Amino acid sequence: TEAHIKACEGGKKLNAFISDTHDLAREQAKASDARRAKGEVGLLEGAPLAVKDLFCTEGVKTCAGSKILGDFSPTYESSVTANMKADGMVMLGKLNLDEFAMGSSNETSAYGPAINPWRKDEDLVPGGSSGGSASAVAADMCLGATATDTGGSIRQPASFTGTVGIKPTYGRCSRWGTVAFASSLDQAGPIAKTVKDAAILLESMSGYDPKDSTSLNVDVPKWSNACGQSIKGLRIGIPKEYTIDGMPEEIQALWDQGVEWMKAAGAEIVPISLPHTKYALPAYYVVAPAEASSNLARYDGMRYGLRVEGEDLADTYERTRTEGFGQEVRRRIMIGTYVLSAGYYDAYYLRAQKVRSRIVQDFENAWQKCDAILTPTAPSAAFAVGRKVSDPVQMYLNDIFTVTTNLAGLPGISVPAGLDKNGLPLGLQLIGRALDEETVFKAASALE
Ligand code: GLN
Repeated sequence: TEAHIKACEGGKKLNAFISDTHDLAREQAKASDARRAKGEVGLLEGAPLAVKDLFCTEGVKTCAGSKILGDFSPTYESSVTANMKADGMVMLGKLNLDEFAMGSSNETSAYGPAINPWRKDEDLVPGGSSGGSASAVAADMCLGATATDTGGSIRQPASFTGTVGIKPTYGRCSRWGTVAFASSLDQAGPIAKTVKDAAILLESMSGYDPKDSTSLNVDVPKWSNACGQSIKGLRIGIPKEYTIDGMPEEIQALWDQGVEWMKAAGAEIVPISLPHTKYALPAYYVVAPAEASSNLARYDGMRYGLRVEGEDLADTYERTRTEGFGQEVRRRIMIGTYVLSAGYYDAYYLRAQKVRSRIVQDFENAWQKCDAILTPTAPSAAFAVGRKVSDPVQMYLNDIFTVTTNLAGLPGISVPAGLDKNGLPLGLQLIGRALDEETVFKAASALE
């Protein structure tokens, strides 16, 4: 714990943390030592970890990267972090993120961007929205971190920082006490240094929770045992639709290399088709803002967080929300409100839901032919801070390979697989059947 606190202090310029909880960490480490002395060793006993600032932590400021939550300090603990505490976690602090997890570069945070430790001569983004999580893990400030993924926010930052990130099946991790972005897509998961560390963290984070109506009442397997097992005979699908126009050559080359590694490990490679892939990104950018506009209606300056007094009630709402929300969040609220409004609902929201069903069906068909699917995680390596921030469409394209699994609720992992021509990390993604994280972990460790 002391070594990691030192690393956190040395790494301050990366802006990976929004708040430090070093005193708490020391207390937790002491309590952990005492348990250990009695022979009680939890799954995460004494492990110095950090938490994305989207998870409510009792008595510790939780702001979701937004000004609107002000100094909100929850009186309760999210189910995911409660599980981890019960398993012996030592929490070093709360990690930076895009505001309300909306973004792909950590540049929409009200607390300034987190920086990728792989920076060369200029500051690079760590990806987003779990940019602080990825940056802190990659810079050895913590052994692992919690993250969340609504459209790629665990996997894309993992790819940008040479770390491992898994989004499990929708419903594996309870959403209770995690600040909501788009409830039908949001899933928690870990970012870690190795596939096995990610498996151990996910074992702790997962589990049935009656407080979340979409939580799945299923056993949590010992995924860490799957890591390193043979993948001989495993059928790996390669979806032709993921070869997109303008795909950088090095991303294609990395994907081809991944195929070779899979073959060498004894897997069988099967070409597959996911024909509705091209509609996934537009559908996601209708469904996610729609749900966000509804979830964010609660920030009205009345109950918690920021309040900017106005002339009357409506004016107070308006001033609070204008001052409290950043530009990207306001953009999402406007898009979401528009696509849900009378007269546009059928044309946008309903249509996006239909696309979503087609995407689910595409995967169902694919599972007849293969057991896991291999794709690139993101269409590029980490880019410079500021490069894409003024062009939302460019920014949204980052999620092209990741949003499909959120729309279909499937598990997906990103594993570091190589470096680009500038020496920056690139990841490959493996997607599995619903609840089959075991195969995903097995196949991912063959790429390590
Ligand atoms: N980049 C996507 C977005 O901005 C995904 C974010 C996420 O997964 N939280 O919506």
